[in-house]
Amino acid sequence: MKDYQNIQFDNQRSRFQAITEMRCPQCRQGKMFKYSNWRIDKFDDMHQNCPVCNLHFEVEPGFWYGAMFVSYAFSILILGILGLIIYWGFGDPSIMGYIIPIPIVSLLAVPFNFRMSRSVFLHLFGFVKYKPELGKLVA
Ligand SMILES: [Zn+2]
Repeated sequence: MKDYQNIQFDNQRSRFQAITEMRCPQCRQGKMFKYSNWRIDKFDDMHQNCPVCNLHFEVEPGFWYGAMFVSYAFSILILGILGLIIYWGFGDPSIMGYIIPIPIVSLLAVPFNFRMSRSVFLHLFGFVKYKPELGKLVA
């Protein structure tokens, strides 16, 4: 007989952890994306449904358009911080000192930005209720 006192769920994540690890908002266990952040060629490949609880991630048609606003906010934040680092760290260089690194960093940030904005948007504006009982048990 199983000792149900010691059942371990792998989905006892806080909402913050689930967002940063890009996990399903309903079970906080299934991953939203098929590949890691570092697969530059497939960073946007998402599961249609949660591999654990089968939640359809695009909760309504066109839902991901809203994630563009989150992505925009992230971009502004990243570029603002980079601008300040250049300004203070490199003693306010000429205009080329901003024009060259800022587009390069924006491009490098695309995979992170794309994925994190979808995760944030789904968790905060998807209105999906957390149901820990839908998660798989750890064997
Ligand atoms: Zn799930």
